[in-house]
Amino acid sequence: MDSLLNKSRPPVFCPGCGHEIVVRALDRAFQNMGLDGNQICLVSDIGCSGLFDTFFNTHAFHGLHGRVLTYATGIKLCRPELHVVATMGDGGLGIGGAHLLAACRRNVNLTLLVLNNFNFGMTGGQCSATTPSQAEVASGFLNRLDKPLDLHSVAVAAGAAYMASISGYRKGLNRAIEEAIRFDGFAVVEILGICPGRYTRRNKLTPKVIEEELAEKGHKNGPVPSNAGPEYGWAYRQLSSSQEPAETPTAIEAVLKPLTAARQDVIILGAAGQQVITAGRLLGLAAMAAGLHVTQKNDYDITVLRGPSIAELILSPGEIDYPEIDKPSVILALAAEGVARRKNIFGSADESTLVIQASGVSIPETKARVQVVDFMALDLKAQDWALAALAVMAESGTVIHKPMLQAAIAHRFKGKALVGIREVIDKIIDRLSGPTQTGSG
Ligand code: SF4
Repeated sequence: MDSLLNKSRPPVFCPGCGHEIVVRALDRAFQNMGLDGNQICLVSDIGCSGLFDTFFNTHAFHGLHGRVLTYATGIKLCRPELHVVATMGDGGLGIGGAHLLAACRRNVNLTLLVLNNFNFGMTGGQCSATTPSQAEVASGFLNRLDKPLDLHSVAVAAGAAYMASISGYRKGLNRAIEEAIRFDGFAVVEILGICPGRYTRRNKLTPKVIEEELAEKGHKNGPVPSNAGPEYGWAYRQLSSSQEPAETPTAIEAVLKPLTAARQDVIILGAAGQQVITAGRLLGLAAMAAGLHVTQKNDYDITVLRGPSIAELILSPGEIDYPEIDKPSVILALAAEGVARRKNIFGSADESTLVIQASGVSIPETKARVQVVDFMALDLKAQDWALAALAVMAESGTVIHKPMLQAAIAHRFKGKALVGIREVIDKIIDRLSGPTQTGSG
């Protein structure tokens, strides 16, 4: 195969930079594997090693500092047929260390080349995560306070299925890179090199010293048997293909006429466990069944079964540019928690607003019209009050009418749930049609 180097953009680094050796070794690895540029995606980090993708005629992606593995993972999972090779310096390694740990645990079939030259070369020679404590660097004494990161040990401890730490000056660098690319899983190759532009201006580092240091550490290169496991993309596809497909949202047909041509803003003030959000969805579906535009904004605490639960809906014949309610048409006051969270809205409401107030729930002073509904007298548990309030609205012709609510229920619920919800709604409508269950506050 021909070289994949980009003839119009030859590698340009400082004289003697170790990165250029790696560019040429990577090109030879691609040639040995017989790869075409269309079969490769080079994903580069920031820094001098971040220039790699510009030197090759392959697919390429250049992203934010330290995030190279996030992009590479996404690309490989979407396009498993590509050979994805990520390049990163020791600067990006420190910045994006958590992504490295995740990639080691995950074992996606991609190759990470970490070009470790012990400093941030591109920005002036500041210390990085791998700078030795005694090195002289542009960031003063800071590296003396940190322990340098041993990438090999960390990656193996994090679960890397393939790990190699090698000198960029070693003979056969291209074969070492090729072996990592051919590995079916996440392969990390740390390539130790020299940055004459910055690092070796103040520190003595030669290929011989690099070899000695590697020998002293005694790391074992290649597959890590204790970390062997299924390749993530393959396993993901196996598992996902055995899952039930996710339900696709179905469109609701606009077959009804709305109750009114005016925009209606509804706020449901309830508590966790009262199905406030579900009631909001039903109200929205009811509006859509009549061809209206709808927005729904929910507000609830992080807690379950405790705290306020609020749904704000705008139902409009025209498009809704901004989903904010200043003056509601209707407030459903169903629980003290929700009322307390939005107490100010009662003070700003006037007679154009209707408050449907659950009996027993106090509300602040208001000029709004108030309709009290005794849900307990209707033999309803608090968890059904929000749905029941919709029935109250439909029965009294407030915002929606009954066919709109019925269309929403039929769209939202199926089987037993549909039967159950219809029973609740029918019960309310029956009883509301009877005497004195509601009154003005
Ligand atoms: S600053 Fe260092 S790493 Fe960057 S090109 Fe120059 S020698 Fe190479």
